[in-house]
Amino acid sequence: MSMSVMTNKRNEQGHLMIGNIDAVRLAEQYQTPMFAYDVSAIRNKARAFKSAFEQAGVNYEVAYASKAFSCIAMVQLAHEEGLSLDVVSGGELYTAIQAGFPMEKVHFNGNNKSRREIKEALQAGIGCFVVDNFHELELLEEECNNLQTQTNILLRITPGIEGTTHSYISTGGEDSKFGFDLFNGQAEEAVAKSLSIPAIQLQGLHFHIGSQLFETSVLTEAIATLYRHIEHWHTLHGFTPEVINAGGGFGISYTRCDEPLEPQAFVKAIVHSIREESGRCYLPLPEVWIEPGRSIVGEAGTTLYTIGSQKEIEDVRHYVSVDGGMTDNIRPALYGARYEAELANRVKQQDEKTYAIAGKACESGDMLIYNLPLPTVNSGDLLAVFSTGAYGYAMANNYNRLPRPPVVFIENDKHQLVVERESYADLVRNDRPLEKE
Ligand SMILES: *Cc1c(COP(=O)(O)O)cnc(C)c1O
Repeated sequence: MSMSVMTNKRNEQGHLMIGNIDAVRLAEQYQTPMFAYDVSAIRNKARAFKSAFEQAGVNYEVAYASKAFSCIAMVQLAHEEGLSLDVVSGGELYTAIQAGFPMEKVHFNGNNKSRREIKEALQAGIGCFVVDNFHELELLEEECNNLQTQTNILLRITPGIEGTTHSYISTGGEDSKFGFDLFNGQAEEAVAKSLSIPAIQLQGLHFHIGSQLFETSVLTEAIATLYRHIEHWHTLHGFTPEVINAGGGFGISYTRCDEPLEPQAFVKAIVHSIREESGRCYLPLPEVWIEPGRSIVGEAGTTLYTIGSQKEIEDVRHYVSVDGGMTDNIRPALYGARYEAELANRVKQQDEKTYAIAGKACESGDMLIYNLPLPTVNSGDLLAVFSTGAYGYAMANNYNRLPRPPVVFIENDKHQLVVERESYADLVRNDRPLEKE
């Protein structure tokens, strides 16, 4: 059964509790819309992944995929929990630098890293690049030579296997913009090419099947497929992977229909499969790396909104609008993502009606939830939307010149602002007035 959705705590006033803090108090202090993260939930997920690896008895790295939610405090929290960090842009790398994150634990992913980003990452001394394509391999070689430095890489392989997930968040199939193809020979060519570049150490291979996975079989299938090729590359090119990175994508619970696996189940299946396959090929057991993003932060985040206007269309729909929407959570509009929510000021009161929760942006598609049973809603009620910790703030935007919400970390009895609400001044900060004649 879903975790954050079903186990909401309430206090004696019937208010939602986040950590040990009353959500109504949070909304009074920080105003809405706002993101509230339960830090203990983040720590617990990080620890669950790590302890699963400890139990599996393998050398490992758990890299937090910071694109799910990146800010200085979050990167620092990842470091406190002993995670490595996956970045996909110069901006995420910069955030990691500002957070004081150890650069040797940073991995750089992405299908179109610019020359500037590559140079910045080399200068920062990151742990490795996950090289996606031949263009990047060339840029990387050139920049290594320019800076007279060397670097570690993994090659991102597209294993031709798709997770059963939305096509926009599926990445492992053959028709994907990501990675070197296994079946048309690109991957082998990339292995051979990487091995021939003196400035580049090919540490191993990477794949990322897609997001919101609810089964382990796609991962183990990908590993088996990959090893059939590794075996071949070992014979032909003397290549022995020291690292296999199985990516992220571990599913979480957005609604009570989602039944995610525990971190342990994914880790166990991945390690078991790699152990078996490497053994079968008489190759040493490599380090096993993963890159969870959503599963680390998704369920830990809750968005608090205030309900404003309502519009009832008899026998059609009863719209209620909140003070945010696609500007702080574009996932429903972008790929039909589903969420659950409750009135944070009246948790677990009897539901009386089905409402459609609309955002405030000027787009008909700016809807958060289409069918949400709630008690009779009044303007001024506080709506808590659950499991918004991943790809919520990270995808937030300023459409309609709405300032992005603040982010608050809550741990037990403490709460702390970690990202300020944008101001109107922030919105025009990069604007330049028209030049006078
Ligand atoms: C997005 C992404 C991840 C993280 O995916 P989640 O679904 O957030 O766990 C990991 N690795 C790569 C390469 C990605 O693109």
